[in-house]
Amino acid sequence: MVTKTKTTKKKVAKKATPKKAKVVAAPKAAPKVLVFDIETAPIIAHVWGLWENNVGLNQIQADWHILSWSAKWLHDGPEKVMYQDQRGVKNIADDSKILKGIWDLLDEADIVITQNGKRFDQKKLNARFILSGFPPPSSFRHIDTQEIAKRHFAFTSNKLAYMTDKLCVKYKKQVNHGKFAGHELWTECLKDNMEAWKEMEHYNKYDVLSLEELYHKLIVWDSRINFNVYTDSLDVVCKCGSKDFMKNGFYYTNTSKFQKYRCKTCGSEHRDKNNLLSAEKKESLKRHAHPSKSE
Ligand SMILES: [Zn+2]
Repeated sequence: MVTKTKTTKKKVAKKATPKKAKVVAAPKAAPKVLVFDIETAPIIAHVWGLWENNVGLNQIQADWHILSWSAKWLHDGPEKVMYQDQRGVKNIADDSKILKGIWDLLDEADIVITQNGKRFDQKKLNARFILSGFPPPSSFRHIDTQEIAKRHFAFTSNKLAYMTDKLCVKYKKQVNHGKFAGHELWTECLKDNMEAWKEMEHYNKYDVLSLEELYHKLIVWDSRINFNVYTDSLDVVCKCGSKDFMKNGFYYTNTSKFQKYRCKTCGSEHRDKNNLLSAEKKESLKRHAHPSKSE
């Protein structure tokens, strides 16, 4: 059985079709931002020992595939978390139905948010997409919370469990509190144990909620994506949604001076792109030195 919420059902078309041309006329209020996380089945292989194994392709008994995915649109309520898995599917290795669900969402997204998804989730999905005959989803930008963590902080660990434990208040990643501990959850899902599937659904959805909360904490420190370009409004809106800014000094390069602002709601920094230096000052900066008056 494949479970999904009503919100997914509406978006899932029968066939993987390339995205329709975006309608220019409709005014855009905000980018479509998708938070998502996948779970994969392990590769099952014949091995001769526990350490330093080199597993040949001919030792593989069953290749990996997608077991489940969970996703939500940023700012939607927790009741709108979407989810699909391979429960009840006759051939568990055929994940094409649930691939279609996540493909449609990625196709619709302007921006996606993942934890380590640039290296894992997106590439794993791409591998399954191409093997199952899907075209690439419509392009999107990718915010990876693990990448932000590595770029701006020296945490003890950049894992979701550590960061959500330290930074999140509502949704800290849940680890091994259910009936099936660690790897057993995967082996029981592969046996199509319904209790295990329910637990997988719970963890997968909860990871997405934790990831969303973590994103809100970390994004204040990262300004690589300008959310304003996604809206037709001329108002400057912070990534947190606020329009309330205060002037906060200047940012200097060797040849320019820019006004800085701080968002009064989330504290993130914004900068104007206009160089405030006068034409005369800019001209004077082109000279390396001024001769002294005696010369
Ligand atoms: Zn803000």
